[in-house]
Amino acid sequence: MIRIDSENKKIHFFIPYNIEEENAPPQTFDLISAYVCPICNKILRAYYIGIIPKEAVNNYIEKNSINNLPEMGLAIGNAGGGQYLKNTSHFDKYSRSSSCKWEEIPFRGVKTCLEALFEKLDRQHTGYAVPEKLIELVNKNQFEGILLVPDVCGKDLPMLIYNENVLSGIGQRTNIDFKKEWQLRESIIKFILEKIGIIERNGNQ
Ligand SMILES: [Zn+2]
Repeated sequence: MIRIDSENKKIHFFIPYNIEEENAPPQTFDLISAYVCPICNKILRAYYIGIIPKEAVNNYIEKNSINNLPEMGLAIGNAGGGQYLKNTSHFDKYSRSSSCKWEEIPFRGVKTCLEALFEKLDRQHTGYAVPEKLIELVNKNQFEGILLVPDVCGKDLPMLIYNENVLSGIGQRTNIDFKKEWQLRESIIKFILEKIGIIERNGNQ
């Protein structure tokens, strides 16, 4: 089990109950920064002062009772005397399993993240100017479908997570066919701009 203690700014590595592993003593390190998903409470990223050997990190993760594989995918690396950890299995759009339906944008800072989101949603265009109004609303956590993920240590800029089904309105519809779903996903940027009043509902600028 890997747990973030936001209050004391620590990260704990515990041996799960279903593992008997002598090479994995419990460890606690000071956090430099960490991001925890506000929807599912799983760790997204952590950067801490301490080193867990790469080959030992899976010993701290619960195993799936069916296939005995680790429940969480992790990438770790050493940097600046510490170690960073990234959850690579947090988001899964298609899986029906317990994975989160909110995808993280792998940058820091609201504006940078929103620019990256726009480019991701519309691969045919680059250099979108993200409207100030949207930045303002997201900064206040007041835009449905996009959520702030602050650094638990309060030092680094926040990350963002977003939910495509909420942004496209797919989540509220039933019996939607694949073609319609695809069209809705293609139109997410338009929906966002309509919502904040940058473009009219009929699409005129
Ligand atoms: Zn989540």
